[in-house]
Amino acid sequence: MDNFLLVDLNGLTSGERLWSGTLDGKFFVSFGNTEILDADVSVEIKARKNEAKVLVDVLMKGSLTVNCDRCLEELQIPVESEALLEVRHEGRTETAPEDDRELVFIGVEETELDLSQVVYDYLCLSLPIQRHHEDGQCNPQVLRYLNSGKSDERPENDGPFAALAGLFDN
Ligand SMILES: [Zn+2]
Repeated sequence: MDNFLLVDLNGLTSGERLWSGTLDGKFFVSFGNTEILDADVSVEIKARKNEAKVLVDVLMKGSLTVNCDRCLEELQIPVESEALLEVRHEGRTETAPEDDRELVFIGVEETELDLSQVVYDYLCLSLPIQRHHEDGQCNPQVLRYLNSGKSDERPENDGPFAALAGLFDN
């Protein structure tokens, strides 16, 4: 398991540090996410420490595989997102974050910052609400089946796509 998303704040010397890693589908499985079937995302992390402040930039770029909303076949969606964070100990809210950064709080005794949740949230939010192939790129057989099922009666419950068709009821 990659733990490059775990930042040892005490280990950061003043100045800038840059490192990176790659996330695959297992990352999303670990969050119980069943929508994202696979992933190939490179994550670049830049941390800057000065005085009492730690600024962390997280750049995420790659692709996520989901099911197409229309034909349910797998679809790779390119994603790119950037999280600009300022790390603070809990309770330190008296000043505004630098450059409108998102504040991330850690316990007073904590010396490690786990970026997993932030990266997960940003990547999920970077997915478009509608996820489907370009027009004409969907699996035509599935589309034909689904469309006939909608305009007609409910499809028979033993067809190969019956279970899939049911997904459109939500
Ligand atoms: Zn499709």
